[in-house]
Amino acid sequence: MTTDTGRRRPAVGVDADDFYHFESLLPDSELAVLHRVHDYMTTEVQPLLLEYWSKARFPFQIVPGFAQLGIAGLPYQIADRPGGSFLLDGMIAMELARTDPSIATFHGVHSGLAMGSIALCGSPEQRERYLPRMARLEAIGSFGLTEPDVGSGAAGGLTTTARREGDEWVLDGRKKWIGNAPIGDLTMVWARDVGDGQVKGFVVANDSPGFIVEKQEHKFALRIVQNGLITLNGVRVAEADRLQRANTFADTAEVLRMTRAGVAWMAVGCARGAYENALRYACEREQFGRPIGSFQLVQDLLVRMLGNVTSAWGMCARLSQLQDLGIAADRHSSLAKAFCTVRMRETVGWARELMGGNGILLEGLHRLLLGDDVRRCVERNLASDLCGRRARERSHASLERRCHPRDLGFDTVGIHRPDCASSARPRGPEPRDPLHATTTSCDATTAPP
Ligand SMILES: Cc1cc2nc3c(=O)[nH]c(=O)nc-3n(C[C@H](O)[C@H](O)[C@H](O)COP(=O)(O)OP(=O)(O)OC[C@H]3O[C@@H](n4cnc5c(N)ncnc54)[C@H](O)[C@@H]3O)c2cc1C
Repeated sequence: MTTDTGRRRPAVGVDADDFYHFESLLPDSELAVLHRVHDYMTTEVQPLLLEYWSKARFPFQIVPGFAQLGIAGLPYQIADRPGGSFLLDGMIAMELARTDPSIATFHGVHSGLAMGSIALCGSPEQRERYLPRMARLEAIGSFGLTEPDVGSGAAGGLTTTARREGDEWVLDGRKKWIGNAPIGDLTMVWARDVGDGQVKGFVVANDSPGFIVEKQEHKFALRIVQNGLITLNGVRVAEADRLQRANTFADTAEVLRMTRAGVAWMAVGCARGAYENALRYACEREQFGRPIGSFQLVQDLLVRMLGNVTSAWGMCARLSQLQDLGIAADRHSSLAKAFCTVRMRETVGWARELMGGNGILLEGLHRLLLGDDVRRCVERNLASDLCGRRARERSHASLERRCHPRDLGFDTVGIHRPDCASSARPRGPEPRDPLHATTTSCDATTAPP
């Protein structure tokens, strides 16, 4: 869409918090895909999440609709598929995480790590054999790298072995934390070749004899993601299913490199969900006779949150543009991942703070009361789920009806405007609490720091 001056008009409407109009970087065709993802997440996925999060189960009913979105393996060349840019792929990861980080992880493991392994390390024949099926989600993929005793040190420490016997390989070992494995069909297993000592990749069907998956229970974060502890007991894999272009761990690292940007994008989505939720809460929650969002200290939190979301989003957008230009290097995605995840934790922590006691309440099902000793973990993991979930609980429509920020004299950032007294709904008496007396004035500054 363009203006009379021929300039692209910023996309507005879906994202009140797309403060710098990053979505307008996408061409209209890709913007339409992003908005379809948003609509699908809001209408079809969001209503299921409380129940499935609570039960730590995966909502299989979303798979057909997810497949129709056509977003699995978007940046890879797949026959009969339009594909899309890395920028769109990143914004989709953000959009999914904005509603639910677990669903974003499901997608990231399947589309990024599993399909990405085949796209980068598979032969043309292997790409043709697997990718179209996986793009349609007829086969759900996993990525089996880490082990019970080997996480960060996977590059040099893998203990799972691959032994060649004629036209077959025999795999033995264990893999831990493997996302989607308990519900999936195919796992990319990375194992050390006992012949040359190098790490190689294999496409393994999850129903192969000797392939045993136990679901990892009792997680208090990313509960909808189904993580598996895999035992490989002499699993036989045809040479035709060895990823033909994965000859050393450097090739495995290529896959991790490509998907690292997605992790940064997901962090932006978590932060965004937390911010949106906090903003809505600030408008709805009343203390001392007025919405808490009318207090400057609360506005300060909102401004900081939006600053984090916007800076992280900008960094990721540029990173994806570099990917699309083919000039993104490891260091670019590493910086984005490091920066965006820290900013996300900070943002989610502030959202928790703003929401008071309700910040740890999983409404409608059960309460999770968490002590200070786990607060750090919570901010890192669970709280992003909780805040995202609370954001979902308040629909845009209900928010518009009850308390739009503009009606309170805020712009969408939550900055207090000078005219807020006239535009705010009728209020009770002025707060008496001296602690808040200085924060309730309507002549507050209008500009973020
Ligand atoms: C929800 C979830 C989903 C996952 N999905 C998958 C998946 O689909 N496939 C897969 O293969 N794996 C998956 N993983 C595993 C994930 O990749 C590992 O958790 C990660 O690599 C870290 O390994 P670790 O947990 O064993 O931690 P460790 O490696 O034991 O590290 C523990 C701590 O030590 C720090 N540390 C380690 N080494 C250093 C160092 N040299 N310098 C400074 N600090 C260091 C780490 O940063 C961390 O804080 C998943 C994990 C989770 C939690």
